[in-house]
Amino acid sequence: MSDIADNLDRIRQNVDRAAQRAGTNPRDVCLVAVTKNVNFRRINDALAAGITDIGENRLQEAREKFPDVTPGARWHFIGHLQRNKVKEALQLFSLVQSLDRLSLGRELDKNASQLGVPRVDCLVQVNVASEDSKYGVAPQDLPGFLREVMALPRLRLRGLMTIAPYAADAEETRPVFRQLRILWQQCREEQEVEMDILSMGMTNDYTVAVEEGSTMIRVGTALFGDRHQGGVQT
Ligand SMILES: *Cc1c(COP(=O)(O)O)cnc(C)c1O
Repeated sequence: MSDIADNLDRIRQNVDRAAQRAGTNPRDVCLVAVTKNVNFRRINDALAAGITDIGENRLQEAREKFPDVTPGARWHFIGHLQRNKVKEALQLFSLVQSLDRLSLGRELDKNASQLGVPRVDCLVQVNVASEDSKYGVAPQDLPGFLREVMALPRLRLRGLMTIAPYAADAEETRPVFRQLRILWQQCREEQEVEMDILSMGMTNDYTVAVEEGSTMIRVGTALFGDRHQGGVQT
């Protein structure tokens, strides 16, 4: 077995146990393999091992690898998307996880219309911990933001995404995940949005995120190893 298949096994076991503790179904948790700085051979190994979803945070890197990656995977955009890259993003990605400002939503809607893309699935990125260093909509602005997004005809709002602040002890991230889940539930009830995705949890904290109700985890390092090895910069 390749190291990736071994790692995948371990991650799935951890997800199973976390879901069991939370009383949820581990099959409801989608694992997105984050492939930034991972070459196409390793991506294809991961797909052969059973990965179905891959996440990239830079358009240029995704574009370079795309032709060599085994067809059939769903590609998720998880980085900060510049407006001049929107057209290309619409051609590569099935889900934009990082809708973090209204101008981007409008640009996605406009370009989808021009390209004849019937709908763009997207998640709104929420800056739950209000960190200056992170993109995302502030929790208090979320209801108004969602209303604006829902008014854009080509966008289909599928859920919320967050990146928790890094903590040496993953337990410290729990309140962030809990708050996002509560926001997600509130918005679904009060605004009657059919959001089915709650994207939260990375290598450092995905078990805590699953315990708090995550339906989508984005995992890079635990699957592929350290990106910084060999001097590769993120
Ligand atoms: C890099 C990245 C991840 C994965 O990070 P790991 O700690 O390697 O699992 C998840 N989400 C986003 C948005 C990222 O940029």
